[in-house]
Amino acid sequence: MQRDIKKLISQMTLEEKAGMCSGLDFWHLKGVERLGVPSIMVTDGPHGLRKQEQKGDHVGIHDSVPATCFPTAAGLASSWNRELVEKVGTALGEECQAEGVSVLLGPGANIKRSPLCGRNFEYFSEDPYLSSEMAASHIKGVQSQGVGTSLKHFAANNQEHRRMSVDVIVDERTLREIYLSSFEGAVKKGKPWTVMCSYNKINGEYASENKNLLTEILRDEWGFEGFVVSDWGAVNERVKGLEAGLDLEMPSSFGVGDGKIVEAVKNGILPEEVLDRAVERILNIIFKVVDNRKENAAYDKHAHHQLAREVARECMVLLKNEDNILPLKKQGTVAIIGEFAKRPRYQGGGSSHVNPTILDDVYEEIRKSAGDNVNVTYAQGYSLEKDETNEGLLEEAKKAAVQADVAVIFAGLPDHYESEGYDRQHMRMPESHCALIEAIAQVQPNVVVVLSNGSPIEMSWIDKVKGVLEAYLAGQAMGGAVADLLFGDANPSGKLAETFPKELSHNPSYLNFPGEGDRVEYREGAFVGYRYYDKKNIEPLFPFGYGLSYTAFEYSDLNINKKEMLDTETVTVSVKVKNIGDMTGKEVVQLYVRDVESSVIRPEKELKGFEKVELKPGEEKTVVFELDKRAFAYYNTDIKDWHVETGEFEILIGKSSRDIVLKEKIVVKSTVTVRKPVHRNTLMGDLLSDPNLAPVIKEFMSRATQENSVISVPQDQEKPMDPIMMAIMRYTPLRAIVNFSRGAFTEEKMNELIQKLNEKLNG
Ligand code: BGC
Repeated sequence: MQRDIKKLISQMTLEEKAGMCSGLDFWHLKGVERLGVPSIMVTDGPHGLRKQEQKGDHVGIHDSVPATCFPTAAGLASSWNRELVEKVGTALGEECQAEGVSVLLGPGANIKRSPLCGRNFEYFSEDPYLSSEMAASHIKGVQSQGVGTSLKHFAANNQEHRRMSVDVIVDERTLREIYLSSFEGAVKKGKPWTVMCSYNKINGEYASENKNLLTEILRDEWGFEGFVVSDWGAVNERVKGLEAGLDLEMPSSFGVGDGKIVEAVKNGILPEEVLDRAVERILNIIFKVVDNRKENAAYDKHAHHQLAREVARECMVLLKNEDNILPLKKQGTVAIIGEFAKRPRYQGGGSSHVNPTILDDVYEEIRKSAGDNVNVTYAQGYSLEKDETNEGLLEEAKKAAVQADVAVIFAGLPDHYESEGYDRQHMRMPESHCALIEAIAQVQPNVVVVLSNGSPIEMSWIDKVKGVLEAYLAGQAMGGAVADLLFGDANPSGKLAETFPKELSHNPSYLNFPGEGDRVEYREGAFVGYRYYDKKNIEPLFPFGYGLSYTAFEYSDLNINKKEMLDTETVTVSVKVKNIGDMTGKEVVQLYVRDVESSVIRPEKELKGFEKVELKPGEEKTVVFELDKRAFAYYNTDIKDWHVETGEFEILIGKSSRDIVLKEKIVVKSTVTVRKPVHRNTLMGDLLSDPNLAPVIKEFMSRATQENSVISVPQDQEKPMDPIMMAIMRYTPLRAIVNFSRGAFTEEKMNELIQKLNEKLNG
């Protein structure tokens, strides 16, 4: 429906307009009844609805209406399946419509800088490309139902420790290539209706007051058109925030923020247009909601539970499968050990906490899948109430294991280990879980461990067990999904969206996490996750992109449709992948790009494409990728843009980041020349290595030589210069030549030379 929003705004009082810029309460925006502007509701997110009916809080303390709890983002990303994540989004959108919720607060696109971050379970990946693709799919799904999303937490909110006050010190290139990139793709491809700014400061400025982020980058560069909402309580100075581009303050500030806005407008400190602009953005979304509202919407909770099960199976990652212990045979005795099998850990704590519609009993689901020929036994193994080993439970579990053909242990991180609000201190599981695995492995050679955790753990016991299935926090249908995978009714196809280091100290952020006081420096720069482990040659426990299947895949015929391209062109890459095993399965074909030679420091390889394909036994498919400039570029802080350095690149096709099976080269030519103006501190070496400038400088310096200075520059026909002299010369700035030339090369001559060189550059 067409509306004249500007006219509507002109009919509002100053107080009404200011009022629109903050919440009515915890979950509602204000409306203006006399002008027909309704109050709409927003709700967490991201992997299920947390709609609170009475008391509101932002950390999941009070109950919410039942809703489907899907696998959390850590799991969703491990599916590497865009369509699947979009389906989850669509289901979430349907539930929002049914509950009258207008905006779902998610997805979260923050990068997993450290495995310790308490909210890693809510985030997708350590890699910005994978993260942004997953976030975009989530957004598209939800919004396809006429419900908005709120892409969060923008930006550089990578820890919970002091999250509302910490100042993230990060260099511009790292920010662009890693932390912002994850949001950039999601904004450009997903087009979220709203973006939520984070609590933290970035390089000294609160995200909520950061004009560069909220306006220049988000809107002017990336084309964001919705409104920016504060994380709950992230507003520092309301007026400064509004000017920077923070449109809506949440939750209600009970008139405080509104009052400051009114006063600032009255005092002439805040131009009224700035306020009008924010109101317009908010009204645009409110009316979009109105126009898309589906009255009497409902959803089928059983169908959504079934979807949650299908999704969960694709999110789980088979990490180890020695002697093909999995899938389990549907015969004999299987001992299920660990309290998690009866009290599953399937979601995380804090604002994303969902009250599930249905909750699978893992043990029961396993019994159902096992069928009548399997004797399924159970032993608790440990108590979730205490981290310490309970000897009685341990002995009982050993007995069950001895009497079985195989023991399946459910272990991982209990609720209080990871949550919104705080970070972990270490990467270990509780002592009772580790001790249980060690003890069972001593009495039973066939041990499978199923892990429930939101972020990597150390596995000191890994060599003692035959199978490991990483279930992450798999949502309310975790039980059914695990059962499907254990008995081979489904084939695992998840791949890690993050590296599992052998130990915490190997992680690149280790020395600088969570920082000192209110300051954390991202000193590892862009070397986050596999970018670091690759460069440092540190063997991870399990690498980024890794995951096993019950079948095997073979790759062939990598083909690049050109050997050379301009950075304004695109290139098509294709590769064949074949299922050479005897079970239908899905494979994630991963494409990485390596810059063979670069004048800037770059990772060994970076993920630039991926496709998930399903293949029947013997079936072969061709997977096609299209790459553009961005796949080869780094962020150049001199020109403030993405830039490709002319040269050779390798296209790598991998089963994981550490298992590259095919590669090919391509030359990419830049159409942009990055020219730094010549000045008195420009080095001789830099001038001589610029083919454009070298002739000028050589000619000039040869004249200087003739004039009897100590400087001599070799002409082509002359014998080469002494290597030591040459090396010293390379790092000598122009201004130093003035001193070394015993008066022959004067300041005036230097300035003339600089001028000539700059003319040459610009001509
Ligand atoms: C969280 C957000 C959440 C909001 C509302 C905040 O504490 O950081 O992710 O959307 O609360 O519950």
